[in-house]
Amino acid sequence: MSTLTSPRFRPILLAERFGPTLQGEGPSTGQQALFIRLSRCNLSCPGCDTPYTWDWTRFDPRQESTQLSVDELYEWVAGQTVRLIVITGGEPLLQQDRLLPLVHSLANEGRRIEIETNGTINPSPDLIESVTQFNVSPKTSRFAGANIDENRRINPHALEILSSSGKAIFKFVITRREDLDEVAHYERLFGLAPVWVMPEGTSARTVLDRMTWLADEAIRRSWNLSTRLHTLVWGDQRGR
Ligand code: SF4
Repeated sequence: MSTLTSPRFRPILLAERFGPTLQGEGPSTGQQALFIRLSRCNLSCPGCDTPYTWDWTRFDPRQESTQLSVDELYEWVAGQTVRLIVITGGEPLLQQDRLLPLVHSLANEGRRIEIETNGTINPSPDLIESVTQFNVSPKTSRFAGANIDENRRINPHALEILSSSGKAIFKFVITRREDLDEVAHYERLFGLAPVWVMPEGTSARTVLDRMTWLADEAIRRSWNLSTRLHTLVWGDQRGR
C-alpha cells in the first residue's frame, strides 16, 4: 500500500465533533467525554435521532458533513484532557479502515474509546484490540420500520463477533412494551450480554414517562436500564 492510499491519509466523513460533554447513555453515563460523530449510515430508521448523518431527502450532505484527516481529529482530541472518546454516527463501522489509525493512536496514549454501532458490520480484529467498549444497538422491527428487513438490521455473524470480543454491551432503544419480547428473543438467540434497555425519546418528558414502566420490566428480565442523560438535561439540542 502506498503511503498516500494508507488509511491515515484517507479523510474521515464527519458529521460533527463536540465536547467536553457527558456521555448520556449506557454504562458510562455521566462521564466526561468527547464525541466524534461520523456521517453516513447503512440503515434508515424512522425513529433515528441523527438523521442529518444520512437522510439526504431532508438534509444537505454539503452542509451536514465534512472531511477531516486522522491527524486533524487526533490533534483536536490531543488538545483536551478528557479521557473518554465516544465515536458514534450514523454508523461508524462503515469507515472502520479509516478510523483504525485514530483509534490506535488514542488507545496508545491511554484514552478510553467507545464505539457506538448498530451491530450490522463485522469489526476487524485490529479494531477490537484497540477499542475499550462497543455500545451495540441492534434495531427492533418497530424501531427500524417496515422498510428494513430483519436480514438488513440483524447480522448474526457481526453480533457473534461483537459478543465474543468480551468488549460489547447490547443496548436496545425501546418505544413500547411490545418491543421487549423481541429484545428477549435476540438475547436468547445470540447469547447477548449484558443487555441494556433505554427509552426512545427526544424530550425529557417522553424519556421519563417511558423509564417509569421500563424500570420494572428491566428488573423483571434481569436487564440494565439506561436513561438519556443528555436529553433530560438539554432536550434535543445538537452538539451536547
Ligand atoms: S442505525 Fe442508528 S444512525 Fe442509522 S438510521 Fe438507525 S438509528 Fe439512525
